[in-house]
Amino acid sequence: MKQLRHSVIRAGLEALYFTRAHHLLRPIFGGVGAIFMLHHVRPGRSDEFQPNRHLEVTPGFLRATLLHLGSEGIDVISMDEVHRRLVERDFARRFACFTFDDGYRDNRDYALPLLREFDAPFTVYITSDFAEGTGRLWWIALEAVIANAHSIEVEIGGAATRIDADSPSAKQAAFDRLHDWLRGLPAEHDLSREIGALCARHGVDQAAICRDLCMSWDELKRFSDDPLVTIGAHTLTHCSLARQAEPTARHELAASRERIEAVVQRPVVHLAYPYGDRAAASAREFALAREAGYRTAVTTRPGMIFPETAKHLTALPRVSLNGNYQDVRILPVLTSGAATAMWNGFRRVDAA
Ligand SMILES: [Zn+2]
Repeated sequence: MKQLRHSVIRAGLEALYFTRAHHLLRPIFGGVGAIFMLHHVRPGRSDEFQPNRHLEVTPGFLRATLLHLGSEGIDVISMDEVHRRLVERDFARRFACFTFDDGYRDNRDYALPLLREFDAPFTVYITSDFAEGTGRLWWIALEAVIANAHSIEVEIGGAATRIDADSPSAKQAAFDRLHDWLRGLPAEHDLSREIGALCARHGVDQAAICRDLCMSWDELKRFSDDPLVTIGAHTLTHCSLARQAEPTARHELAASRERIEAVVQRPVVHLAYPYGDRAAASAREFALAREAGYRTAVTTRPGMIFPETAKHLTALPRVSLNGNYQDVRILPVLTSGAATAMWNGFRRVDAA
């Protein structure tokens, strides 16, 4: 199913490109700017089974994006400057803003040198537990479990289930099924328990994954001293905020910010909601983020920034630079807003 969805999206993007419809749509859907969402930036792998590939782009694709923005005369600006332009309604020039979720070390090793070359500021949203080395990057742990297994036994809805994982396509199907099951569990501790049990049975060390991929507090301290870098918050535990009781959600928002401020010695005023979709962040979370003192908060809802977005500063949409669509031909489609307009059914603002 996921493969089919990728094919449909790619066909849509290509149709927009080849019909040049994005040129016609730009004045209506191009907005005043875009906030790009990225996770990993690192060289590609050749493995057939890469279920999390949508979360990574290559340095080459990031460079192509930066070159494209330059050729279009689009300013690359920080989140502080996005906030200023929206509040002061300064829309004389189109802008792009680069944001990276989770705090991966490859952001420092591969993205920073490139962004420096283009003098491009960017924001990295940190999950406290990931910097602590104790976080659960369960989607990556699940990939590791399946990559080395021939089959997986789990109890789904009370029934013992054996899932085949013997070929790359079976592994992908197993990942899709288990990923949807884990995200659908009633509470965060259910997810922790189940992925913990799978990892224990298959010899996968979640803490090692975390320490291997994420910057530590010491590394973040040095990283944040770079004038191009803004550090934002991404909660304490990377939980789905909408599924937490209100006091817990408040604590996740306030304590993560204090923890980062203690390390970087600077106010932290920008937030990214973990998962960031409608099920993880909606009206209550947008209000809680505002009350917690965040000036901006980004979602994973697709969309460009319009003047009317200024009324929803803690519900900002983003444009994903998705590893499954690393084709330079789609860049003009993405910056035209035609792609996000297509995904949104041609609505400009979606902040309810
Ligand atoms: Zn995240």
